[in-house]
Amino acid sequence: MHSKSLSQWLNLRMGRPLHSEDVSLEQLQEWQFNQLRKTLGQAATSCPFYANHLQGVTIEEIKNPADLSTLPFTTAEDLRNNPINFLCTSQDDIARAITLSSSGSSGPPKRLFFTAGDLERTTEFFHYGMGPLVDEGETVLALLPDSRPGGVGKLFSESISRLGANTVYPEDPSNIPALVDLLIDSRATCILGPAIHIHALARLWESHGLPDNQIHSALLCWDVLPEIAIQTISKALGCEIFCHWGMTETCLGGAVECEEGSGMHLREPDFYLEIVDPETGLSVPDGTSGEIIFTTLSRRAMPLIRYKTGDIGKIIPEKCTCGLPMRRLDDVKGRLKSDIILPNSENLSLSELNEIILPFVEVLDFKVSFQHLPPILEITLDIAPDAKASSCFFNSIMSHPKIKIITAENDLNINIRVDNHNGSISSGFGKRLITSA
Ligand SMILES: [Zn+2]
Repeated sequence: MHSKSLSQWLNLRMGRPLHSEDVSLEQLQEWQFNQLRKTLGQAATSCPFYANHLQGVTIEEIKNPADLSTLPFTTAEDLRNNPINFLCTSQDDIARAITLSSSGSSGPPKRLFFTAGDLERTTEFFHYGMGPLVDEGETVLALLPDSRPGGVGKLFSESISRLGANTVYPEDPSNIPALVDLLIDSRATCILGPAIHIHALARLWESHGLPDNQIHSALLCWDVLPEIAIQTISKALGCEIFCHWGMTETCLGGAVECEEGSGMHLREPDFYLEIVDPETGLSVPDGTSGEIIFTTLSRRAMPLIRYKTGDIGKIIPEKCTCGLPMRRLDDVKGRLKSDIILPNSENLSLSELNEIILPFVEVLDFKVSFQHLPPILEITLDIAPDAKASSCFFNSIMSHPKIKIITAENDLNINIRVDNHNGSISSGFGKRLITSA
């Protein structure tokens, strides 16, 4: 199978006729490094931060990944310290600025700037990336923030309208019973949004005995859920599942799965992506997990060079059977340093808790907070309307090997309580994390 839509997009972006044959990975990389040198030149001459940061770099010599790995990283801290210093264009050319206040950081928020052209390239990626999921005349239910001009919701609905399809948005994406009603009323055939929201929707959909032939595709963003939760969505809604990775720093879109569903094809015309060992900063071979680092290739307002995302993932070494040359990102399991350290020095991750908690059919969502002194793990459940938390729930948590050991040593108190029981969920947009005090 060949993902025609993404293949056309790649040709378009590389300035080739739309229906040309695929380029090889080597041709694509050569083209990328040509774009990359232009980005470095533009950044070194027009952007105060990089004029200083790239001092001593001979740009013409950056021809391959090994050359690129000699350049210094850009960190989130750099962005927070003085975002205006990253601007490569005049402020009059900025079509959209996004402020990101990060949890757990007391410093100033990150500010990201985009020109109209930067935003258009994201709309284009959404347009071609959604091609395999949506047909003309269909409706997409989108759980996305920010429908203002330049916001992700607006860019997405523009991309869907280019496919001749429509987008509907809920008033409150966390109200799952209202989402079920909207899905029925709108007759949407595709749904897109945070994986935890779509998982909760699938739970209610199944419990109401609703048909499994209305929705044919779902695109999961932000969260990563265990395989068992993905299977729940696929079975309850009777749909194909696609995954997407992106962040505001990538101008929202970053990588998307093709019809093969075996890893997310990178947005190669717009970024060069590397995976490095988070401790040493050295590149790791394809197939090995590490921190995701990217360099923008087409960004005008605010190029980013070797930006450390803090997300963990790996590049799949083999070429996709769909034939596309764009590399695939996989196993994006969360953020660096997002695990909590239990009093006996064991790590506990949200992903492990997802695997224990989400199989309970009444659970729509949960949040976890961890207090160090005295050590208390508090799990707050959002459950389906009229449901009760299963009596097996507590036992299931307590029998998890890590928790069993530590509670036996009397070093950890676990509190479990039910918060929402009207069908609304606590998670918003963005990656779910264990909060720590
Ligand atoms: Zn593919």
